[in-house]
Amino acid sequence: MKMVIEQSKMANSAKDFTYQAPFPITVKCRKCKNPARLIMLVDDDIGELVAQRPRNVKVWPHDCSAIAIYLCTNCGSMRATWNQG
Ligand SMILES: [Zn+2]
Repeated sequence: MKMVIEQSKMANSAKDFTYQAPFPITVKCRKCKNPARLIMLVDDDIGELVAQRPRNVKVWPHDCSAIAIYLCTNCGSMRATWNQG
């Protein structure tokens, strides 16, 4: 599992750490509607999350997945999005 927190690497990593379209660098904060910036990327490049699936869950990664975490630097709200291979 790889993780990127270096802000200087986010733009390139947002393209590399994904299994589908690149993650946006900013998304709209659901709380205050200001831009929330990409603060952390997690790339489960070897599918470690797949093996952690709890019993009786409806949705869980079933392949290598990538998670993008956003922080609104105006109100402190966080949101995340993800995709998988
Ligand atoms: Zn906000």
